[in-house]
Amino acid sequence: MHIVRDLFININILVALIFVYSQLIDRKIFRNLTPFTRKIVGGVASGILGVILMQFSIQVTSDTIVDLRHVPILLSMIYSGTIPAIISAIVIIIARFFIGFNLSSIVALLYVVVVTIGFYFIRNHKMKRVYKVFWMLFYANTIFSFVISYLVPEWNVLKTLVPIFWILSIVGGLIGYYFSEHLRKTHKLFQHYKAQSTKDFLTGLRNVRYFNEKLMSIIEDEHVKEHSLLYLDIDHFKKVNDTYGHNEGDEVLKQISNIMVSLVRPIDSCYRKGGEEFSIILPNSPLTKAEEIAERIRRAVELHPFKLTNGKVIFVTISIGISHFPSISTNGNELVEFADEALYLSKNSGRNKVSIATKKRPA
Ligand code: GH3
Ligand code: MG
Ligand code: MG
Repeated sequence: MHIVRDLFININILVALIFVYSQLIDRKIFRNLTPFTRKIVGGVASGILGVILMQFSIQVTSDTIVDLRHVPILLSMIYSGTIPAIISAIVIIIARFFIGFNLSSIVALLYVVVVTIGFYFIRNHKMKRVYKVFWMLFYANTIFSFVISYLVPEWNVLKTLVPIFWILSIVGGLIGYYFSEHLRKTHKLFQHYKAQSTKDFLTGLRNVRYFNEKLMSIIEDEHVKEHSLLYLDIDHFKKVNDTYGHNEGDEVLKQISNIMVSLVRPIDSCYRKGGEEFSIILPNSPLTKAEEIAERIRRAVELHPFKLTNGKVIFVTISIGISHFPSISTNGNELVEFADEALYLSKNSGRNKVSIATKKRPA
C-alpha cells in the first residue's frame, strides 16, 4: 500500500515541521521582530512546509500524484492571518514553477490562488474554528476535483484519484489542525502558568522568585553600569492587622503596591518579597536618583488616606533602605544585604524614613 505509506510520511513531515514552526515562533529572536516582519517570516516558513510536502507527493495511480500543499496555507490562514497565508501561497507557487513551467504548473498556480481566496472568505465567517477547517478542506477538495478533471479527463483515473485525494486531504488536514491546536493550547497554558509562578496573587507585583532572577540578570548584564536597590517595610503593620483585621491589612498592602508602581520609572520593577515587605530594583540608577524615588514613595504613602473596605480611612508609614552598586556593594549578595541593613537603620532611627547603607570599609 504505497498510498498509506506516503500518507504516513506526509503526516509525519507535517507534524514534525509544525512542531519546528511552533518552536521558532516561541524564540526570543522571533518575538523581537516587528509584527509585519513576523508575518512575513511565518508565511515563508509555512510556504517552505508546503514546498517540502510537494516534494513528498503521494502516488495515487501509476502516473498521478497528489500532495498536501494546501494544508500549510490553511493552517496559516487559521492561526496567523491573511498575509502569512498569502506569502505561504506565493512561496508554493514560485517553487512549483521551479519544478517545471507547463500547463499543469499554470493550473497549479490557479488552484493555489483560488484556494487561498476561498480560505480567506471562510476564515472571515463567524463560526467555530474546527468548522472553518472542515469548510476549508471541503472547499479545497472541490476545487481540486474540478482542476484534476480538467487536467486528466479520464473517468477511469478520476474515479480513483478524486476520492483518494478527498480522504488524504481530510486526514492530513485534520491531523495538522489537531496537532496545531494542541500545541497552541499547551503553549498558552505554559505561558499562563509561567506568568503566574512569578506573580504575587494579592498585589499583582512580581514575587520573590522573579526578584532573584531579575537581580541576577541585571548584575550579570555588562551594559548596566550601576544599579540601586530599595527595601521597603510597612511600619507597625501588625497593629493594622490587630486593629482592623487581616482583610483590611491586605487592602493596605494592595494600595501601597499601587503607589509604588505609580511612582517608579518604567525600567524599575517592584516586588513583594513576602508579608509586608517590598523591594524595588532600579537599573542604571545612581544613588541620588534612588534616594529621590524612595523619598517620593515614602512621602506619598505617609500622605495617602488608606480607605478600608469598611469605609474607614487610616494612615500608615513605611521605612525604606537603599543600597547601590558599585559604590556600596561589590556584588549582588551584598546589594541585598546592605539594602536590608539600611532598612533596619530606618527602623531603628524612628521609622517613616529613608536610609542609605553605610559603605563597608575594607578590613
Ligand atoms: P515594624 O515597624 O517593625 O516593621 O513592625 P511590624 O508590625 O510591621 O513588623 P512585624 O514583622 O512584627 O509584623 C509584620 C506583620 O505583617 C505580621 C503580620 O500580621 C503582617 N502580615 C504579614 N503578611 C501579611 C499578609 O499577607 N497580609 C496581612 N494582612 N498581613 C500580613
Ligand atoms: Mg516586616
Ligand atoms: Mg513592618
